[in-house]
Amino acid sequence: MDKKNTKRPVEDRCSFCGQPRTEVEMLFTGENGAFICNNCVERGHEMVAEIQHQNGSKIPTLRMEELQKPMQIKTFLDQYVIGQDRAKRHLSVAVYNHYKRLLHQSEKGAQQIELDKSNIMMVGPTGTGKTLMARTIAKLLKVPFTIVDATVLTEAGYVGEDVESILSRLLQVADYDVPLAERGIVFIDEIDKIARKGDNPSITRDVSGEGVQQALLKLLEGTVVNVPPQGGRKHPDQKFIQVNTSNILFICGGAFDGIEKKIARRMNAQTVGYGQVQEERVDEENIMQYVMPQDLKSFGLIPELIGRIPVLTYLEPLDRAALRLILTEPKNAITRQYVRLFEMDGIKLSFDEEALDYIVDKAIEYHLGARGLRSICESIMMDGMFDLPGQTTRKTLRVTEAYAKARIENNRFKNLKAVG
Ligand code: ADP
Repeated sequence: MDKKNTKRPVEDRCSFCGQPRTEVEMLFTGENGAFICNNCVERGHEMVAEIQHQNGSKIPTLRMEELQKPMQIKTFLDQYVIGQDRAKRHLSVAVYNHYKRLLHQSEKGAQQIELDKSNIMMVGPTGTGKTLMARTIAKLLKVPFTIVDATVLTEAGYVGEDVESILSRLLQVADYDVPLAERGIVFIDEIDKIARKGDNPSITRDVSGEGVQQALLKLLEGTVVNVPPQGGRKHPDQKFIQVNTSNILFICGGAFDGIEKKIARRMNAQTVGYGQVQEERVDEENIMQYVMPQDLKSFGLIPELIGRIPVLTYLEPLDRAALRLILTEPKNAITRQYVRLFEMDGIKLSFDEEALDYIVDKAIEYHLGARGLRSICESIMMDGMFDLPGQTTRKTLRVTEAYAKARIENNRFKNLKAVG
């Protein structure tokens, strides 16, 4: 399609922004020699969406009697996420209350009593289901939802993404329907990565820590933010969109590595052998369950930010039984996915119980947790996935313990022993 070498005397240009064909990805031809480039099409789409939304947003009408109750939300989560009962309950209630809060505002007399929003903090070791839970809940939400990673955020003006970019994502999900985006839910993953280093406010600049927390605080408190329409991608004529964050619900998640020590210290116990000191029995295996807002402060979150995230919940480390269930039980469990992949080639795949136990053993042995289950399975299934499609004789594959063992012992997982 590149016509720059043809004999045209004048290079084709976008009739809107004037960019020549060579400077844009695509240039569409219209009647009477008119052209439009892909950037102007996109910008036009945004403008149309904005204008349409000004004239009437696509906000779905929420009705109290139609709202999914917390118990129903939790039942839905149970289909995909193993265990983590307490976090599921918190999340279900938070989402339900978010809806109720939105409903309340549209009702008469709402001025008399104001319902505060209850942003949530989910603390728990990596790979225990925080993101999975957020992704799962997104499936049944009636409001726009987006997941952002706090590690990429930096203070405005520094390399990285401004905190406002969070709202650009939400706007995109809401198809630039501002009132709809203003009722959305944002999951901020890895929030612990913006903790300031050390307990004391830093003297040197901390562009990816405290500065970001301050900026985030404004969003969480509720403010009107000028959001560039497309995060990162700069248009020369970029027009800011104003988004009010008062009704946006924020769910934060983080592993907070090492917070156990801070919890233990607060509980007036020694890091080694804590538990003896407390009168009440302390569950030493799962110290995370005692997490309190002050522990987040010791970890390096600023108190103002913690104050804006009133619901604090934790995720439990996954034990052997949980890992075993994760392999087979969730609606899109890993083993079910392989069964489906093989089924598409007309091959019936099955796993022996002992093989599944073996996979869990390996995940524990290599300290890989739930995340490791997938890579271990992938190594085991690799040969089958390569050899079986296309052949006509074999119609079944039974993964026995011996089959699994042979594949694991033959490959890179051997090297992982050193890591554990
Ligand atoms: P994180 O807590 O670090 O956000 P993730 O939610 O990303 O962890 O979990 C990584 C993967 O591990 C998930 O995609 C899922 O396959 C599996 N997993 C982790 N926890 C659970 C759980 N409680 N139930 C089912 N699967 C889980």
